[in-house]
Amino acid sequence: MLDTAMNDRLLEAFRSVPTPAYVAVDRRPVMGQHNDRIYALQQAILQETLDQLASQQGLAAALRALYDQQVDIGFIQDDLSQVGYFRYRAPGANSQHFFIVQFNPRRAERFKGAGRTVLPRGAAVQGVADASCYLCTDNIRWQHRGVQSYYQFRVNDRIYNALCNPFPFTRTHLTMAAGEHLPQTFHVTSDAKQTHARIRRIVEDLVAIVEQLPTFVGFYNGAGAGASIEKHLHFHFFEIPDGHGSFPIQTAARLASRSLFGQVDSDQPAQVMEVPHYPLTAYRVRGPKADAVEAVIDLALDWDQSAGEAASANIVALWEEGAVSLYFVPRNRFYTRSPGLAGMVAGLEVLGEFILSTPDEQRAIAEQRVNYDYLWRILEAVRPAVDGEQD
Ligand SMILES: [Zn+2]
Repeated sequence: MLDTAMNDRLLEAFRSVPTPAYVAVDRRPVMGQHNDRIYALQQAILQETLDQLASQQGLAAALRALYDQQVDIGFIQDDLSQVGYFRYRAPGANSQHFFIVQFNPRRAERFKGAGRTVLPRGAAVQGVADASCYLCTDNIRWQHRGVQSYYQFRVNDRIYNALCNPFPFTRTHLTMAAGEHLPQTFHVTSDAKQTHARIRRIVEDLVAIVEQLPTFVGFYNGAGAGASIEKHLHFHFFEIPDGHGSFPIQTAARLASRSLFGQVDSDQPAQVMEVPHYPLTAYRVRGPKADAVEAVIDLALDWDQSAGEAASANIVALWEEGAVSLYFVPRNRFYTRSPGLAGMVAGLEVLGEFILSTPDEQRAIAEQRVNYDYLWRILEAVRPAVDGEQD
């Protein structure tokens, strides 16, 4: 128990916490305002604690602490104890090629949605673009009953909010949501200049975040390319588990260049390589940062020009041999799903790792219907037709 003097000081501090700028303050009940103050206080303390951790030990330490806090409070509903990994090798002479399956039964529950959707009385706050958006931070307080918190940080002078997922892929799986409510797509209808600016921002910010996170992989899933929330710009990040090894797309790229990933030479321009022996058209870009960013922007702009309204992509960034590599995978936004996979084909699948979660998928694994060719066909089904190819 706290002593009386301490209690008085706490209560005084609590009452001084400002409430959000309500649209109709007279409609917000007293205990609703109490809850909003508690949330603001809890969020401010967490932010300060994680800021200190980030300044001493880096962004990764702050993100791991956020994840631990969200597990402890029960926002993260899966301890990942039921996850199993399977590796499927290509038959015959190509056996160095493989795909990975992560069987994660709890992720099947993500389809149900975790948050409440009806605002409590008077809780509407000024300046919220969309009261149903899961990535606008003013909504998070009431949607998740006060248990979901976030960590705010800056990158390239723009605000991002790191949020946990109730059903993660792996430990420290986070969504990095833009501070503003902007759409996920990079294609801005009939406005080439805005499209260019959007692509630049996406690539620059993705790289600037992954630069600070050498043990993580980060990806941007375009509209129709696995983005679960298309109305608010975000990236996915997760820490690659110990012993996981390379993703299949990395192995395909490395086997083709017959070498390790190759050192990045600051005097050389970025190297753009189409990854051979892969079911999707995919490019690996490696080189000095500014040059690599420009090379990916060029790939995205070319694809946007040829595909127009259908243009989308997965862009993946991760560290290989001491430098960031980027993988650019053009996608058609109208081809989101594949037969044989209940979920969408997103950034992780594009790397060659598939999350299977439903009872049907579990049966397919047990009956050995899932194999290298099965997984190959899932990716092939979302490969867009390119110029000169017969449909
Ligand atoms: Zn939003």
